[in-house]
Amino acid sequence: MTSGEVSEQSERLLKQLSESGQRLIGYFYPHIPLELLMAHDFMPVLVWADSTVSGAYEGSLQTFACSFARNIFSQRVRDQLSVLSGFIFPGNTCDSLQNVGDIWRVRFPNDIFFRLTYPAGGAGRAAVKFLAEELRILSKGIELKLGTGFSREELRRSADFVGRFRWAVQFIYAARLINPDVVSYSELAKAVRGFLSVPSLDSLATAEALLSKVQKDMDAQGHTDSVEKLSASLLERKIETPITPEETDSPRIVVLGGMVEPTDIAQLMESTPGGSDSAIVFDMLSFGFKTVFTDPLSLDGDPFEEMARATLKAHLEPTQEGLQKRLDFLKGMLSNLSIDGVIVCEQSFCDPDQFEAPSLENSVTDSGIPALRLPMDPEMSDKSRLSLRVQSFLETLASG
Ligand code: SF4
Repeated sequence: MTSGEVSEQSERLLKQLSESGQRLIGYFYPHIPLELLMAHDFMPVLVWADSTVSGAYEGSLQTFACSFARNIFSQRVRDQLSVLSGFIFPGNTCDSLQNVGDIWRVRFPNDIFFRLTYPAGGAGRAAVKFLAEELRILSKGIELKLGTGFSREELRRSADFVGRFRWAVQFIYAARLINPDVVSYSELAKAVRGFLSVPSLDSLATAEALLSKVQKDMDAQGHTDSVEKLSASLLERKIETPITPEETDSPRIVVLGGMVEPTDIAQLMESTPGGSDSAIVFDMLSFGFKTVFTDPLSLDGDPFEEMARATLKAHLEPTQEGLQKRLDFLKGMLSNLSIDGVIVCEQSFCDPDQFEAPSLENSVTDSGIPALRLPMDPEMSDKSRLSLRVQSFLETLASG
């Protein structure tokens, strides 16, 4: 199934849910506490770039707008997002999302609009306090503009629901590092995308069914303990112990980057001559690892502070401080996880990606591992060229 087909399927599901009375709220930036939106009885819907929509030209946007921002704005212009009751834009992340949010407000004044501003710093006390206040303001705004208050009981339920999803896919991510053939990267990426697009009981069941299969296979291969330990280390972002992966025919490739679509990467790898999506043993993408490996929400303290703490403890984006920490984690991965090659993806015209990509590439090549920089857009408009570059990268890896 292509990412365009996944989008169509999600759109159909969202329409059905909306017709059945479920209220839906859209967000664009991956790091948002889903539990908060669910505690207001909303289903949080991640607005993905839609590969069937051309975002190439949109006169209202500034020239610096990235291809992702253009794509989501084009979806709104084409009236594709009408099932959503409101939109949450991030603040202090990148100029593109700031700009598209500002223009959106002017072009579509009747849309219910929220802005959640993120601190630039990591998970220090001041940053947690700042984000907790922002989340409180967002919560009050939802109550005021959309009429549903924050419920602690719903928060408890959603913490369990989202926690189950994250635990399942974290285990699968770790299992694939030990044996990537246990389930394809494409299946994993689709399960993550399915849940983030429509976090329903069905999408949780899909992720948990995949988990059961993986758990059974890992158990049969005697890997359960190693997978659990690796999953915990990934959550802490401290990979200090080497693993012994199962032998496979494909090279072991990690994909780095920001808001590029994991299902598109899987598809690109599958459609490249000589490629197989088992070759992708791990991603460090915004809509993959960086979102999935978020701590479970603690219900002990102030809920807004706990949500802020969990959000900021995740692997942060290039839009936030902490480049050295991210590079240290990458180094640990490269030294301990038997990685043969790294693909550094960059969303076209994404300043944060372009700022961080050279440091990532240098860190990879300093470790003696080949790296490929791959600029792309959500429409995969130059797919043949991308495929050619991946093919020649695979040939380089094969030739040792
Ligand atoms: S792709 Fe880059 S520039 Fe575009 S919205 Fe995401 S972080 Fe911002």
